[in-house]
Amino acid sequence: MNLNWIIPAEGSGGRFVIFKSRRPCWFTAFCFYIMQTTENIINIEEIDALIKSQEQPDLAYIREILKKAENLSGLTEKEAAALLNTNAPDLLSELFKTSAIVKERVYGKRIVLFAPLYLSNECTNNCLYCGFRRDNKDARRKTLTINEAVGEAQFLAQKGYKRLLLVSGEDIKSSNIDYLITVINAIYENTDIRILHINAPPMKTEDFRRLKETGVGVYQSFQETYHSETYRKMHPSGMKKDYDFRLSTMDRAIEAGFDDIGMGTLLGLYDFRFEALALIQHARYLEQRFGFGPHTVSVPRLQPASGAVINDAPYPVSDTDFKKIVAVYRLAMPYVGIVISTREPKELRNEIIKIGASQISAGSRTNPGGYTTTNTEHRTPNSEEQFETEDHRTLDEMIQVVSNSGNFPSLCTACYRRNRTGKDFRILADKGDMQRYCLPNALLTFQEYLIDYASDETKNIGQKMIDDAAPKVEQRDFRERLERIKKGERDIYY
Ligand code: SAM
Ligand code: SF4
Repeated sequence: MNLNWIIPAEGSGGRFVIFKSRRPCWFTAFCFYIMQTTENIINIEEIDALIKSQEQPDLAYIREILKKAENLSGLTEKEAAALLNTNAPDLLSELFKTSAIVKERVYGKRIVLFAPLYLSNECTNNCLYCGFRRDNKDARRKTLTINEAVGEAQFLAQKGYKRLLLVSGEDIKSSNIDYLITVINAIYENTDIRILHINAPPMKTEDFRRLKETGVGVYQSFQETYHSETYRKMHPSGMKKDYDFRLSTMDRAIEAGFDDIGMGTLLGLYDFRFEALALIQHARYLEQRFGFGPHTVSVPRLQPASGAVINDAPYPVSDTDFKKIVAVYRLAMPYVGIVISTREPKELRNEIIKIGASQISAGSRTNPGGYTTTNTEHRTPNSEEQFETEDHRTLDEMIQVVSNSGNFPSLCTACYRRNRTGKDFRILADKGDMQRYCLPNALLTFQEYLIDYASDETKNIGQKMIDDAAPKVEQRDFRERLERIKKGERDIYY
């Protein structure tokens, strides 16, 4: 039998060539299956052509797009390409304004706060940009014991955090699936943390299934770059080397039962217009295949990292372009939670929460054990850190910043516990119905925070905000629930 098999051509930018083989084997069949899938996910030529065709966007066309997008209708890829190519300052400020309107229509005036919890910096991959890369011999390697992981989570719980994002390098000896499951169970059993999300290496479907059974919320993994040639250069060895396996991660996670997934690209590795359009195309593919797209989209921007090979972004992303990416994601996928990390400087974070972002981390450490073993008041660069963070404000400080921006800080974890996930979440968000839950839940968790953890200054600012907002909440029993919290009951939500 003489069969044709399809394999990616070296340097082909993701295009495929026919390979003739007389002896098909299971491995070849598996590769064929993966590649068939990934070929459907993004179309590199189409994205390149769209960017080129929209390089000189017409002003009237841009205004038309913005008007339409205000109604949460999303964007076509052509419209997204036109917005990503927009540079005129007045049009950009209209774009940011529209993004703020859309965010408010979907989620109301609330910003969710969380912290990452780094479990392990041991890694067998060699991503050129990362401080955890295998060949960084200067890094002090550390995988938290179960007790240490619980200690970190408890430390954060005592500051008022209710949701954490677990983060880990890729090393089947130290941070394998059994380890992750044990850590998650131990944190849920021994701390007041209400939901754990996870950013861990892509796995096979069976391991995703076991991970999901722990009650973890969002599974997050970043493609880093959708540009296959750049991907190969940036990931020279280890499991992560395989572009197609990475690109099909979300298919496996969803097939295994994850209905909340988090996506992102590492901004700075390649042309941001390409990356943003590819991510939107990937989200569309998931929507078509499974009925829902990403629950969150992150916008990590390359930061210097001790021991990394690449510290200067090959394709630098300016602050204005960064805001543009956030705004285009917001209009293209109105329902997604857009996550901003402490990689970004204070001033930009202050701005971005007013123009489309909906979730921010606060007080983050990116080294395993960073919360309990390092002095959080006086930070010094640390060889165990994954990359340098820019915004070192504490949770309490960020809660004040969010409040002063006219938004309500939220420590809500209700959707994951009420099964408002996947398609159900999508339907509510598309109709603009989520804010009916988001505002009261933000206020209830804010009230808990004020009583249990807040500084006096935050208490003063926050109590006034809650008292002013309470009459606007539509749920009739809201005041009664607020009173129950004041009397000591906890974890009340819609
Ligand atoms: N190791 C897993 C992986 O790579 O998928 C998950 C955790 S990794 C620590 C989380 C993310 O950090 C990566 O996906 C990458 O986008 C980001 N990252 C790595 N190095 C970075 C750097 N120098 N600056 C900013 N973000 C970085
Ligand atoms: Fe390892 Fe992830 Fe860092 Fe790559 S980005 S070296 S996989 S921890």
